[in-house]
Amino acid sequence: MSLRAISLPTITTASLHTTGLYRFMTVIYDLHCHSDQSDGILSPEALVSRAKSQNVEVLALTDHDTTNGLARAARQAEQENMRLIPGIEFSSQWGNMGVHIVGLNIDLKSSALLEAIDSQEKIRDERAIQIGQRLEAKGIKGALQGAKKQAGEGVICRPHFAHYMVEQGYVSSIEQAFKKYLGNGKAGDVKQFWPTFEQVIHWVSEASGCAVLAHPMKYKVTRTKLCAMVDAFKAAGGHAIEVVSGKQSQAHTNDLAKITNKYELLASCGSDFHRPGSEWQELGRHSQLPETVTPVWHDWG
Ligand code: AMP
Ligand code: MN
Ligand code: MN
Ligand code: MN
Repeated sequence: MSLRAISLPTITTASLHTTGLYRFMTVIYDLHCHSDQSDGILSPEALVSRAKSQNVEVLALTDHDTTNGLARAARQAEQENMRLIPGIEFSSQWGNMGVHIVGLNIDLKSSALLEAIDSQEKIRDERAIQIGQRLEAKGIKGALQGAKKQAGEGVICRPHFAHYMVEQGYVSSIEQAFKKYLGNGKAGDVKQFWPTFEQVIHWVSEASGCAVLAHPMKYKVTRTKLCAMVDAFKAAGGHAIEVVSGKQSQAHTNDLAKITNKYELLASCGSDFHRPGSEWQELGRHSQLPETVTPVWHDWG
């Protein structure tokens, strides 16, 4: 029989996932996700277990401006026989834009890191008070206390205000809360408090970590502005770009790979998972980097 007579099924990344074949072929890295120590829903333990069930082998927990969940996540990862990378997602400012910088493999004992977290925590607390006041002025009663309750033991983030507004019937969804009150340019968008991204990259470097420009496509800027941002990021000592962030178009991924190579940076990937139920951000699902880039883990041993 000639080889031509054999018709092979088309193999796609999606079909590799559904058949479970993917895990036999490549290590799945997810280097960006959140627990209930910031604006995620799952406890650090539940998050790690879910990652395991999604075949993730190397997971970085990167809560907003806190490392509080890392010790618990590390214990769970040891039980699950997974590798946990200590991480954080710092809030920063580039010009008048809020930009997120993920720190990977950070030294949790670094005094620069400890001071940074302390400073970010104070900024978050002050910002929450301002957001609360601005929302009160818009007629939303008890916003600060409501958000604090939503945050529980975690740091207060804008989604906690959003959840409170949904719960109290001020808006019908989280999306609507951002659209009307918390998103870019709205009353609750108080971002002038954050440190410059040069400062944040410096903190991550001081903590021997790798600074990664998070979810570049989320900033919704022109390609020229994005390149200017990457240029400034590189000049400030940044190390890597999140070439894959959650579910994004192949065209975006390819373009980010090009930009990453142009600036001679490394490439990272992460789901930015916050809660179950969103196919866009499922743990480990969007983990395939283009072959043209150098993965951030190339020298992790
Ligand atoms: P914060 O760090 O307090 O400024 O909160 C930012 C977080 O809000 C992001 O990490 C997202 O999880 C969430 N977020 C931002 N924009 C939206 C949106 N339009 N809809 C839902 N969540 C959002
Ligand atoms: Mn978030
Ligand atoms: Mn982010
Ligand atoms: Mn994130």
